Amino acid sequence: MKARRSARDAEPGSVWLAIYACGAFHCSRSPEGAARTGLDHQSTCCARGGHTFDVVEYKRHAVAMQSPALPQRAPPPDARRLRLLMRRLERRCSDCTQCGLSRTRQKVAFGRGNPEAPVCFVGEAPGAEEDAQGKPFVGRAGRLLDEMIQQMGLSPDDVYICNIVKCRPPDNRKPTPAEIRACSAHLHEQLSLWAQTSTWPAPTAKRILVALGNTAISTLLDTRQGVSELRGKWKLYRGRIMVMPTYHPSFLMRPFATQAQSKKEAASDLSLVAKELGLDISLAQPARRTILYSIEGGKSAAPKEPQS
Ligand code: SF4
Repeated sequence: MKARRSARDAEPGSVWLAIYACGAFHCSRSPEGAARTGLDHQSTCCARGGHTFDVVEYKRHAVAMQSPALPQRAPPPDARRLRLLMRRLERRCSDCTQCGLSRTRQKVAFGRGNPEAPVCFVGEAPGAEEDAQGKPFVGRAGRLLDEMIQQMGLSPDDVYICNIVKCRPPDNRKPTPAEIRACSAHLHEQLSLWAQTSTWPAPTAKRILVALGNTAISTLLDTRQGVSELRGKWKLYRGRIMVMPTYHPSFLMRPFATQAQSKKEAASDLSLVAKELGLDISLAQPARRTILYSIEGGKSAAPKEPQS
């Protein structure tokens, strides 16, 4: 009886091979013809005669067992090696002369905070205090940023902070497109290392960038849209890292009539980040639940509780 078997029926270490025979009775390759003629039905005459071949039986053949080819998993990133690469990049930036800002800077402000944190805040460029200390966001805007971070229920040491350009533009002007381009290789390498180094185990393994202001938004997202159009909406950096665009702390310190509204919007944007990280803001200390930032004219006053 002809029995069809599939490869699924084969036992491990064996395969089923089909044995064919010609269906034409007169042919020497048919089972009957082979019996009559004594010829082996593997001869080639049938193929030339256009006879059809039937599977007459399946035979199991042992084969040498081979390990299945499993897809190779990338080895886990070596955190120590990544930290070393980050320090090397910082040293390279300290010696960098790729743009004119190297001639006027005192120190390169590379990054501050925890490079293994799941959140990275990216601003525009260092100011005078940052230039003197060699760290980003340590001036007035930095103190406001620290307060905003605390209101998320985090400490400034729980996040990583850097700028689009690492050296101070003279007179606190905006960095030019050429300066941003010159520094972009440093920035993208820094963010790539941060994204790989970030190892906060719980409650989330997400990486989130917070783009502070128009320069950070346009550089990270390669867009011409501004903060007022994009703030509060999740975007992607290089197609894989979540980005929350929001206002730069320096902007929130300017005396605009609409500033209270902008501060509320910034607080709302950062609460989305905290929620995405799985932080329960309602469990944070009361001082961290304030909605309006308390820095007025650059001086940090006691945080105000929201009016209810
Ligand atoms: S701003 Fe960037 S590219 Fe320009 S000198 Fe500083 S580190 Fe180099």
